[in-house]
Parts: sequence; structure tokens; C-alpha cells
Amino acid sequence: MGEQVIIVGAGLVGCLAALAFHKRGYEVNVYDYRFDPRDESTQDKNLRSINLAISARGIESLKFVDEHIAQRVLRDVIPMKGRMIHDLRGEQESQVYGLFGECINSIDRAVLNNFLLDELDRYGIDIHFGYKLVRAKFNDKRQTCIFSKMGQDGVTETVECDFVVGCDGAFSSTRYQMQRAVRMDYSQEYIDCCYIELYIPRTKQYIKKFNGNFAIAPDHLHIWPRHNFMLIALANGDGSFTSTFFGPWSLVESLTKSRDKTRKFLLQNFPDAMALMGIDDAVHKFITYPKGALMCVECNPYHINGGKAIILGDAAHSMVPFYGQGMNCGFEDVRVLMKLLDQSMGDRSVAFKRYSETRHKDLAAIIELAKNNYKEMSHDVTSTVFLIKKQLDSVLGRILKNKWLPLYTMVSFRADVPYHRAVEISNRQKVILNQLLRTMVATSTLLTVLGLSRFGTWTKKWFQ
Ligand code: FAD
Repeated sequence: MGEQVIIVGAGLVGCLAALAFHKRGYEVNVYDYRFDPRDESTQDKNLRSINLAISARGIESLKFVDEHIAQRVLRDVIPMKGRMIHDLRGEQESQVYGLFGECINSIDRAVLNNFLLDELDRYGIDIHFGYKLVRAKFNDKRQTCIFSKMGQDGVTETVECDFVVGCDGAFSSTRYQMQRAVRMDYSQEYIDCCYIELYIPRTKQYIKKFNGNFAIAPDHLHIWPRHNFMLIALANGDGSFTSTFFGPWSLVESLTKSRDKTRKFLLQNFPDAMALMGIDDAVHKFITYPKGALMCVECNPYHINGGKAIILGDAAHSMVPFYGQGMNCGFEDVRVLMKLLDQSMGDRSVAFKRYSETRHKDLAAIIELAKNNYKEMSHDVTSTVFLIKKQLDSVLGRILKNKWLPLYTMVSFRADVPYHRAVEISNRQKVILNQLLRTMVATSTLLTVLGLSRFGTWTKKWFQ
């Protein structure tokens, strides 16, 4: 029998980690404080974001763990080839993401999580629902986890294993327990942005152009950028869209005090979206639906020496959702760790240590990129200078192929470029891009001046 691992958290990352460890011969037990989300009666109605964007890093990691699983997941996605920018008049402008038609993909969070849970069942991996990790003790040989049983006041269960993998999300208890045993740097930052989920229903008629009952193009991520707040929408398989409003807390708090104020605000800023949602429904959801907070968590190291424990996914690096990378990065954690385990012939102490040493700069890089992307999505996409730079960036990318890679391409479509390398390469390219732009502006100014002076000489001659 293989070594015993306890995985805390049966979310997206925990499930993939469980499958990866199982396939390497470990005896895996997964614990989650939720009740089984596949069970209708216990479904969590407050789950974050109904759909997510999965891109290259997530897909490559699924393939790495199990090609069949990746293929099955890809059957349920809706490819999105770009952003669709909606202005105040309801005009739409497409800004493609990739150089050669690459897409990110909209996927239903619950469908993905439930499918992964089904896969765990199929492989005979034990999942214990309703078990909340409350204490962990890390010893030389065996690790001890104490779980409180949900719904059974004061009842706990103690379980032993060889090592613990914490995939228990942004408020990770595993991380907290590890902090008692190791000098872990840790920071948590809330950004001043609240999110509220809204909804665009499917249309009644089949729209040929969109090949379905979609009211707007399903092959784009829709954005209504309004500078310090914005609305986005991603398509669902049934023709509807999950839409999310992002804006400062003070704005949301002032709006939700008054139904009329909210109605006026939504109609003024998102008239075309309100026509699709129905203003009454949008106002109702805006006021009554849960308001989500967004935060970043950074820590280092991610493990306890001796291969006793490690944290992956949001437990190790919670980020704001503006690059659509939280889950993708968490899936990549699993792939990176498995490769290190393979390289160290299964020696956990070596692999976990190496993971902390090498992974941190990538995680710090994507957390920062995600933060910066809020400004790009809510504001920059409407700026002419930004769009010219983006065009130039894409032209260079298309002409120079692998020698010039736009940042978005490296982050979303190139799983082989680590996040920190993507930032380094992009910073170098930015300098060249700015020089090019300056040269272009200077040349066109010079040509205009020359043209004007020639025109002046010519008119002078003509009228003499
Ligand atoms: P979680 O999904 O949080 O799962 C943690 C699990 O641990 C849960 O099942 C929980 O019940 C369990 N748990 C917690 N504490 C305990 C405990 N003490 N004991 C036992 N179990 C416990 N990412 C993308 O890649 N693309 C996107 O488009 C995207 N969009 C997003 C939009 C929004 C609005 C938000 C908020 C996030 C988005 N993300 C996106 C990020 C993504 O949702 C997360 O990165 C991802 O869910 C992390 O998965 P996880 O398994 O690490 O953590």
C-alpha cells in the first residue's frame, strides 16, 4: 500500500491534486466541510461565480493528470476568442485575445467540480464530506488531522496520515495550522472592490448567427467598462450569461440603500445590458444578492520540511479574478508539484522544498498581474493609446511569431512560459514598444510639418 495522504478541500484544486496523487500510487483521502455538492438537497446556493474561464495552463494541467478528463472537460466549454466592449450607446467592439485565433473558455464551475468529484469516485478515492479541519499536528513520522463533523455539535474525528495537502481555499485552515509549525511569511490584502452576480437569460428564439439561444455573442467575454466600475458577462451552455458587476464598496453601499437609485444607475450606465436582463430583475439581484469581497493572499514557503505538508491553489495564493487565472494557476500548482515529485523519484522532502523555492516568483507575479488587470478591463480598453499599443503588440507578435509574445498570450495561451518569465519578457517588450511608438509619432509629426511647409511654398508660388 502507498503512503497515505490527506487532502483538505474537495474544490477544483483539491480534486485534481487527489487524482494526481492517486495515479502515483498514494492512498488518498479527501476531506471537505461542505456536504456533497452533487446532492440537490445540500447544494450551496452561495457558491462564487457560476462560470469560470479556463485557459492553457488549466487545460495542460488537466491533460498532464489525465488526458481523458481534459477531453471530457473541453466538451462542456464555450470558447471565447476576445473581449466585446460595450459602450454607453450600446455599440459593441470586438478585441480579440489571441494572435492566431486562440481562445479562453467559459465553463460552469459546478459542472467542472462535480465532474471531478465523479472522477474521484470512479477511481475509488474516498471523499469525506461534512468534515472540517480544525487542528493539525505535524510530527516527524505521522501527521494528525482533527476534523469537526458538520451538523454534529462538538463531535470530532482524529485521522492520521503520512502527509497533508491543503487545498482548502483562501481562508485555509491547513495554512493556519502550518503557520504554527513553520516561519511562513504571510500577507492578506482586501481590494476596494465588491462583486455581485447578475444574470442574462437565454432568448426564446434560436439566433442563427450565434448558433443557439444567446442574446449576445457567446464567443466573447462581454465587458461594460465604466472606469472605476464595470460589468462583465460570460456565456453558459444553456444560452444564458452569468454577469458580474465589480465596483467600489462605497458605491455599492450607497446604491443599495435605494431601489430607485440602483435602477437609475443601472439604466444610465448599462442600458443595453439592462434591456437583456430586465431592469426589475437586475435591480432585485443587485440589492439582495450576496456581495462578494476580493482579496489577495501571499505566503512563503508553501511546505513544511520533511515533506509533511504543502498548500496548493487559493490556500497558497488567492488572487483577484481579473486575469481569469486563479483556478488555472491552482491546476498548474498540481502539475508543477507532480513533475518535481517525479524528478525526485517520489522523495517528498526534496520535491516540496524545491516547489517552495521555485514556485514563489511565479505566484507573486500572477497575483500582481491579476491586480493590475482590473484597470485594463475597466478603463484602458477604452483608451486610444492603449488600443494602438495593443494593435502594434499584436502585429509584432504575428510577424515575429515566437520571438515576440504579447503578455496576454503568454499568460493565457502559453503554459510553457512561467508567469515570472512572462512578466520579464513583457517588460522588455514594453520598452521596445514605447520606443517604436515614439519613433512613429516623431516620424509622422516630421512628415506632417514637411508636408505643410511644402504646401506653404506651393501656395505661395501659386498666388504670386
Ligand atoms: P476553493 O474553490 O475555494 O475550494 C476550497 C475547498 O475547501 C472548498 O470545497 C471548501 O469547502 C473546502 N474547505 C475550506 N476550508 C475547509 C476546512 N477547514 N476543512 C475542510 N474543507 C475545507 N479562476 C480562473 O481560473 N478563471 C476564472 O475565470 C475565475 N473567475 C473567478 C471569478 C470570481 C468572481 C472569483 C471570486 C474567483 C474566480 N476565479 C477564477 C478563481 C477561482 O474561483 C479559484 O482560484 C478556485 O476556485 C480555487 O480553487 P481551490 O480548490 O484552491 O479553492
